[in-house]
Amino acid sequence: MTLIALHIYWVKMDVANLLKRIEKNWESRFSKEIKDRNREWKTVSDSHIEFRVLFDPGREKIYRNLNSERKECPFDKIIPMKKDTIKGDLLFYGQNIYPYFDHQFMAFPIQHRCLPTKDDLNELIELTKIAKNYTIMMNMEGAGANIPEHIHYQCIRETLPIDKLSGKKIKGNNHFYIEEINYTIYALRLKWNNKNGQNKCQELVLNYNKPINLYIYNDRMYMIPRTANYPQSSPNTKIGCAEVGGLFLITSREIYDKCNFNYLENMLKEVTICKPK
Ligand SMILES: [Zn+2]
Repeated sequence: MTLIALHIYWVKMDVANLLKRIEKNWESRFSKEIKDRNREWKTVSDSHIEFRVLFDPGREKIYRNLNSERKECPFDKIIPMKKDTIKGDLLFYGQNIYPYFDHQFMAFPIQHRCLPTKDDLNELIELTKIAKNYTIMMNMEGAGANIPEHIHYQCIRETLPIDKLSGKKIKGNNHFYIEEINYTIYALRLKWNNKNGQNKCQELVLNYNKPINLYIYNDRMYMIPRTANYPQSSPNTKIGCAEVGGLFLITSREIYDKCNFNYLENMLKEVTICKPK
């Protein structure tokens, strides 16, 4: 066996190990707490888009605590010191201790930097080849990030509604293609057939260099440009990555009750580049 094969074998073992630990941790630490938060789900749709909405009244308290507690970047010293954190090739992986979706964990570089790199994306794409039912999400500064000065990736065991939508091909060759999604806001799917295509898609995402939300899967990424606005219609709801992908987390009962399709669509339009009618 060559050194490279050994290395890949090691990485695969480690990711499988990480996922096993996440599952175990989830059951022992969070499943009861989450149950006690009395969350509720609903689905609202128009003729072809289906938004999913999670109401989590316990989450609001956590937001408040997070904002009042934070004095320094938690990704620099605090989280990497925790014994549950696992080091990958480049990124660190650890449980999200304030999970908003089930089985959630995070990936982040040890360097304090605000932009993603090609190596980050390579490692995360490798991760999704093993963690097949996960969506990896990223908010850039101005795109809903809570800690924008240190890039980090949220990994959730959910499929986002946007991933089920069809698209219209706007560019491509044998290696990759880009589609504009048939969605309520402007969103691109970048899909590759081989390593050349993957490189091209990564370059396109990294060169854009303006606020975006990004979703990473093993053979595709989604990119949604943001306007760096916060929604007027919902001061209690921060619109981050999951939301622009069609999966909403709502902490206020009043807003949850108002969440019909048009209400949510308007929220998305306020924070993204929406399509002209
Ligand atoms: Zn940092």
